Amino acid sequence: MSLSREQMLVEMGITPLWVLRDEPLETAHEAPGHVPAASEPLPAKLLPAEAAHQPAGLDLSAVSTSPVSTSSIAADISAVNSLDWPALQRAILECRACQLCEQRKQAVPGVGDLNPDWLFIGEGPGAEEDVRGEPFVGQAGKLLDAMLDSLDMARGNKVYIANAVKCRPPGNRTPEAAEMAACRPWLERQIALLKPKIIVLLGRAAVHAVLKEDKALGSLRGQRLEYAGIPVVVTYHPAYLLRNLPDKAKAWEDLLFARRVLRAASQSLV
Ligand code: SF4
Repeated sequence: MSLSREQMLVEMGITPLWVLRDEPLETAHEAPGHVPAASEPLPAKLLPAEAAHQPAGLDLSAVSTSPVSTSSIAADISAVNSLDWPALQRAILECRACQLCEQRKQAVPGVGDLNPDWLFIGEGPGAEEDVRGEPFVGQAGKLLDAMLDSLDMARGNKVYIANAVKCRPPGNRTPEAAEMAACRPWLERQIALLKPKIIVLLGRAAVHAVLKEDKALGSLRGQRLEYAGIPVVVTYHPAYLLRNLPDKAKAWEDLLFARRVLRAASQSLV
C-alpha cells in the first residue's frame, strides 16, 4: 500500500509536514566546494528527543578466475564500455567476478528511470534486496523513498537507484575494497549509459567506490564534488540514518543542497 506524502515524511522523521519553498537559483554562495547553510530551518520536532518515536531502524587482480564469460568481460574494460543497457544488465546478473557471487541469491543491478536526472548510489544489497532483486526495499528503502518523496520525486521517475556492489555481502557487512573494485566497471558503465545530471552518494562505501575517496563522510558533505563531469553530492546511507535519527536533518540539508546543485548545473547548460 502506498503511503501518503505526510506518512512518508513521518517515516523520514520530518514532522510536522515540511513545505518546500522554492529556493533561489544559483547564487555566489553556491559556488563549487562551498558548504551551504541549511536553506530550510529545522522543525523543532526533528530534534533528537522528538525523533525517538521514529522507526529504528579496477583493481582487476580481485577478479575471480571462475570460468564464467562475464569474468572475462569484467577483465576487459573496453568490452564493458561497449555494452548497451540490456547487455549490461545480463552481464551483471551473470557476473562471478568476485567472491560475493558465491552466497548471493541474485545480483541486483539497480532500479529506476533509464533517463534519470538523479542517480542515487548506495552500498550493496541487503537480505531483502537479495531476495527481491531490487535495491533499497527494506526499512532503509522505505526511508529513501520518503526522502525522495520529500523532494517530490520517486524511484522510477527521473530517479535511478544502484549500489556500489551488485551482490549481497554476507551478513550485510561492508563490501571490501577489492569487491568494490571488481564491481566498479559495472557501476561506471551504468553511469555512462544513464547520464544522470547529479549523483548522490549514500554512505562511505559509495563514496569510496565512485570517488576513490576515503575521507570521513562528514568532511565531504556540503561540497559539489564531481565524477566524469557530473556533479556529485555526498550524504548518509539511509540504514545509518535509521540508527542515528538526529542525522536525518543533516541528510535533508544534503538533499536540498543537491537540488540546488542540480538546478545550478541545469542553468549553466541553458
Ligand atoms: S559484486 Fe559485482 S563484481 Fe562481484 S560478483 Fe557481484 S556483480 Fe560481479
